[in-house]
Amino acid sequence: MKLSNKGMTRRQFLTGATAATTATLMGIRGADAAPTENSGLRITDLKIVLSAPPRDGGWNWIFLKIETDAGIHGWGEASLQEKDAGVIAEIETFKKFLIGKDPFQIEHIWASLHRRVTWTGGAVTMSAMSAIDLALWDIKGKALGVPVYELFGGKVRDKVKLYANGWFNGSTPEELARDAKATAAKGYKAMKLYPFGGPQVATPERIQLGVDRVAAVREAVGPNVEVGVDIRNALNIWGARRVAQKLEPFDLMFMEEPILYDNSATLVELARETSVPIAVGERLYTRWEFREVLEKNAVDIIQPDICHAGGISELKKIAAMAETYYVTLAPHNSNGPISTVASLHLDMMINNCFMQELILRFLDRYNEVLTEPLVVEDGYCTPPAGPGWGTELREDVLAKYPPKEYNPVSSGDVF
Ligand SMILES: [Mg+2]
Repeated sequence: MKLSNKGMTRRQFLTGATAATTATLMGIRGADAAPTENSGLRITDLKIVLSAPPRDGGWNWIFLKIETDAGIHGWGEASLQEKDAGVIAEIETFKKFLIGKDPFQIEHIWASLHRRVTWTGGAVTMSAMSAIDLALWDIKGKALGVPVYELFGGKVRDKVKLYANGWFNGSTPEELARDAKATAAKGYKAMKLYPFGGPQVATPERIQLGVDRVAAVREAVGPNVEVGVDIRNALNIWGARRVAQKLEPFDLMFMEEPILYDNSATLVELARETSVPIAVGERLYTRWEFREVLEKNAVDIIQPDICHAGGISELKKIAAMAETYYVTLAPHNSNGPISTVASLHLDMMINNCFMQELILRFLDRYNEVLTEPLVVEDGYCTPPAGPGWGTELREDVLAKYPPKEYNPVSSGDVF
């Protein structure tokens, strides 16, 4: 760095040097002062809108509406299964910082929220930040009159391939075969199932039932529909080894979270022993947490969640990191309509999008609450055309489904 210290006293120079050293020691990245605000817009309010998803379909959806003095608002989503109170409190805390800020300065706001204190990151903080990031991009797109994906590098594809989740009604191999066939008949080119339930004990009976379920689905859809298996950490390492071996013949698109996601060394061991592609990432946050699994070549596909890992800003960066390791993205998406629409915008503008997760049993509700619907054709989807996300939430419709009360801890649930 070239320093000009003309006219600077020795004391001023030393103070600057000390500040820079302190910033380095604290791990602060790019500790610049706030940039001059210049869009002419100011954030005036942050509002939380809660709504229940379809019956038996999951936990409350938490939406964030950021308003500006120009009459433009943006939508984000921070749905964080069973942690509503925590994430809402975090957004309320951030509100004090955000009121009066220029909504165009998304990178600066993101970095400010991320490095504000020593204790940052994690599900609650990162979900709050994700919602803020998403809402700000919606505002910027609307203010400039372009879709969000145009604010990055523009689209690299015209439509996004989906993989279906939430397509099954039964759990026996026969019922799954029936439901898989019906899903493929609707045009879906890929789907995943959860063949192994329960805690981390892989009994021979459980393993066999899981393999029978996968075999039934593969048989039902044939070789041209991709099949994925989500294990949701239900196995330990030896169980995962045995399962991976038994799943080899089914030509799976991925085996998701075969073991706990927080030990990349164990994941590497498994990855070296199987040809089944391994996917993880729905519970990792920020580019810093994805760094290790990428560096160790522990995974083939990563699944960051746009509502948890840091918003579309952060997923774009994570995608670029993954590209250098020849790793593709299948963004995790188990939440509401803003999560889905924002994920589609990401998928449109990253080179290494593998597929987009879609919960089929949520689709009708998405389209009930969105002003512009999500149109699925032949297993592909494109975000609605128009500025920002290209669609709005109907608050009156969301209000028809008030948030649910639930017990935040389910005994024996290892998910
Ligand atoms: Mg999963």
